[in-house]
Amino acid sequence: MLCGYIEDKDFGRVLIYTRRGMRTFRAKWNKYGQLEVTLPPGATKARIVHTLNMHHDEIKALREKIDSAPARFHEGQVIPCLRHHLEIRRKAKDSQFYDFGFDPDAECFFVAVPLQCDIASSVAERTIISCMKAVAQRFAHTYIIPLAEQVAQEKGCTVRGFEIGRGLKKLGHCTRERVISLSGNLLYYPEELVRYVICHELAHLREMNHSAAFHSECNRLCDGREAELEQKLRAFAKQLPL
Ligand SMILES: [Zn+2]
Repeated sequence: MLCGYIEDKDFGRVLIYTRRGMRTFRAKWNKYGQLEVTLPPGATKARIVHTLNMHHDEIKALREKIDSAPARFHEGQVIPCLRHHLEIRRKAKDSQFYDFGFDPDAECFFVAVPLQCDIASSVAERTIISCMKAVAQRFAHTYIIPLAEQVAQEKGCTVRGFEIGRGLKKLGHCTRERVISLSGNLLYYPEELVRYVICHELAHLREMNHSAAFHSECNRLCDGREAELEQKLRAFAKQLPL
């Protein structure tokens, strides 16, 4: 729970959170470049300041590590997508707005960054990620639904329907009404892993849990590759900027 903030001469505005059951404290830099500190409830301001001073060097080192990390995006970068790819471009004309969509001439998705923007900055990084999510929401339907229908047919599964969910973290969900919802972000996953996510959800048509019976069904649908594909999926999701 956010319970306020303090101003620190080195770290700027520090957001203070409390969490029940917390014994010590935790500090992290959020994606907006602000320091967040989580403490047990009831910590006094003096105690917070003291804690920050005690861990000043570690917190600073954490910031330096983030700042020295290589930029995620650069001009001309090509990000693979299902069937196509996405290109990070500069806008042709000067404008302060980002642009995104599908370029029929180049046959690729694109995110176009304003001329004066530093692509390596954290603001640009966040905006590019938002544009990528918007591309996924707009186009996932065209590419993922037909693939899902094809996989269901191949595996002999009857589904009431597939839909693209708004959720971006959760890759798939199967309802009791036999409707399978798939994340638009799957647009950025290799086909093999999209097929795996679809098989996982198809297995839920039989078993609405993650029991041994579920895994045996999922493994059958994945031609005995469930464990291998799950590992690949985790590794892939970790390095995806979304
Ligand atoms: Zn599941």
